Amino acid sequence: MGSGPYDEELLKRALNECAQEPVHAPGAIQAHGVLVAVDEDLKRVLQVSANVAELLEVDVEEALEMRPVELLGQSLLRRARKEIAREGRAKGFATAPILRGGRRAFHVTAYRSDGALVLEIERDVREGVKRMLASLSEMVMQLSAAKDIDTLLDMLVRHARALSGNDRAVAYRFVEEWHGVVVAEDRAPHVGSFLGQHFPAGEIPEQVRALYLRNPVRFIQDVSQPSVPLVPALNPLTNKPLDMGDGVLRAVSPVHVQYLKNMGNLSSHSIAIRSGNVLWGLLSMHAVRPNPLPAHLRNGLLVLTQVATQRLFLLEKEKDEQFMQAVTETRSRLTRSQRRLPEPAELLEQQGTDWMALYRACGIALVYHDTMASIDLVPSRKYISAILELLRERASDGGVWATEHLEGEGDLPEGRHGCCGLLAVSLMRGVYDEGWLLIFRAEEPVVRAWAGQPKHRLKHEGDKVILTPRKSFDAWVDEVRGHSAPWREIEIRKARDLAEDLGILVAALEISHLRDEAERTSRELSRVNQRLGHIAHTDALTEVWNRRGIEDAIETQLALAEREGRPFAVFLFDIDHFKRINDTLGHPKGDEVLRRLAQVVGHELRRGDSIGRWGGEEFVFVASGTELEPAMALAERLRQRVEQQDFGVDGKVTVSVGVAAWRPGDSIDTLVERADEAVYEAKRSGRNRVCRESPPPPRSRERSPHADQRRRH
Ligand code: GH3
Ligand code: MG
Ligand code: MG
Repeated sequence: MGSGPYDEELLKRALNECAQEPVHAPGAIQAHGVLVAVDEDLKRVLQVSANVAELLEVDVEEALEMRPVELLGQSLLRRARKEIAREGRAKGFATAPILRGGRRAFHVTAYRSDGALVLEIERDVREGVKRMLASLSEMVMQLSAAKDIDTLLDMLVRHARALSGNDRAVAYRFVEEWHGVVVAEDRAPHVGSFLGQHFPAGEIPEQVRALYLRNPVRFIQDVSQPSVPLVPALNPLTNKPLDMGDGVLRAVSPVHVQYLKNMGNLSSHSIAIRSGNVLWGLLSMHAVRPNPLPAHLRNGLLVLTQVATQRLFLLEKEKDEQFMQAVTETRSRLTRSQRRLPEPAELLEQQGTDWMALYRACGIALVYHDTMASIDLVPSRKYISAILELLRERASDGGVWATEHLEGEGDLPEGRHGCCGLLAVSLMRGVYDEGWLLIFRAEEPVVRAWAGQPKHRLKHEGDKVILTPRKSFDAWVDEVRGHSAPWREIEIRKARDLAEDLGILVAALEISHLRDEAERTSRELSRVNQRLGHIAHTDALTEVWNRRGIEDAIETQLALAEREGRPFAVFLFDIDHFKRINDTLGHPKGDEVLRRLAQVVGHELRRGDSIGRWGGEEFVFVASGTELEPAMALAERLRQRVEQQDFGVDGKVTVSVGVAAWRPGDSIDTLVERADEAVYEAKRSGRNRVCRESPPPPRSRERSPHADQRRRH
């Protein structure tokens, strides 16, 4: 980032040096445990840590001469092999092998590494396990009920510090370009606060981040103790340093030791907050004195973090869901039939405020051909023309382009009017070469408090530039200007849907203008007319009628019914547990299910029937010439078709269907509402079923004013 507080070039070099450091294979371990690496056939001891005598009571030479079973005992080895076979990776377990010193309990972490079976052995401390379990279950309950992310993280750091007895616990979140920000903190009164501080990416370099994805924990128990080398230094099977990335004992790099000491800490315990391959951040804890944590506490902290992580990702997803829901609502308002098509300027007037709020925008412009409509704060026309020029080059195939820093996007004229962020989505490709929805965001100046002054941390050493561990952790403030808030992925995706609806409306509008100029109608025009008429009524995702189209179809049936008494029925389908499909397989897969469902149901269309997408994952089927009973049978057949269909997802896709048949005096609203109530009933009574509308209220023989009143309500 250009406005960052460093000398870019120097920093890059220094970070590069730092990134070369093999953090997963330091050739040494921390002093509180002992490491033994044996070959997988258990024939030889490959490497031991120089302190092996402390726990196993043999010296290094002796240990390297022994057979693994002599050194470690049959039961320990068998257990280690079993654990690894089950878990595939590092997993601690307790054991009580009989050794020269007598029967003693150990905690062992075992993992495979380049043909070696590595055993990390620590004294097993059991004290306080019961107490920990009691508070842990209480903490877990609280975490899993947290209502919002801030509360959740506050709880996590508070519980983690209480459990671990550390002086400070923080939730550290990765933001743009892997900078980190401390977003929650709990600390003892005698240590300073890091809350709100930013840390440059180099603080947790790339290879360390990668290691957190592989092994979520890093426990640094006491940096006042020198680390203990492995003997021999290299793994004899590979002639390389032993990879200890999956374990818990590996030694700390000298730079990091210095870093911790400068920070005033002797212990540091960190656990990744991650989901799959997404590293969200870290739970990071420090103590100013040595605070070696026994295995059960480490596991307790891991459980806490895992529960909090699950909750965190769920809450984030809910935020996305709410946004999607809001967009769906504004879309259905947009495509709702209106007596006449609104002009773009009117459209923006009607809907723009909603969109501005949804997108936290400062202004919105709708541009096509030579027409531009806008609301609130947008750049000058000249500036927008230049943007369109830029979009031609840069917008992706999907017709989307987003920036949070217009100023940094090359040659643009004066007239930005303070707009900093732009989300541009092309209206409808294929109908227009040029038509854009432009959503602008104002500046959001960010004051970042950096922990310490990063510039002072570069040091020349010969021809190397190295990153010296920081000495000061006092906040150093830096301000980022000219940027808007970043665009979230879901915001970008949903803007595409909006633009699609807009494109359709604009197209329909154009054609109606042309229609008005009847004289100029040519065959060419009628072809375009047809095509646009179709597009305007079609749902782009599923290619069945959209809301507007299916409303027209119901309208037609209503007219027939009123005039000729021809019956018809409306089915409303709602996919069961559709959120789960989105959640487990992602939205693109969810979209595919919607497409497929439209096809499956569409297959059953008879002459005069129609199907359309009512919105989201709800469809309407209009069955013509049908009374309620036969309609129920048809709906049941449709339901079965869907149930039997293979959608390529785990398990079945099912629908709940509500059926309503025409009654004299019905409107679209009353009909669909009765079908909707029936869907609700189908959901309530267990889903994957068809329910009918409730019967009409019995007619009172005398039309009392009272009865009339009731009807109106
Ligand atoms: P229920 O059985 O009660 O209907 O459960 P449900 O999960 O289907 O719940 P609900 O009807 O409330 O949720 C509908 C979900 O459909 C919410 C939203 O995430 C999703 N959705 C809406 N529109 C789209 C879309 O265009 N694409 C995808 N993939 N998902 C959508
Ligand atoms: Mg629904
Ligand atoms: Mg549903």
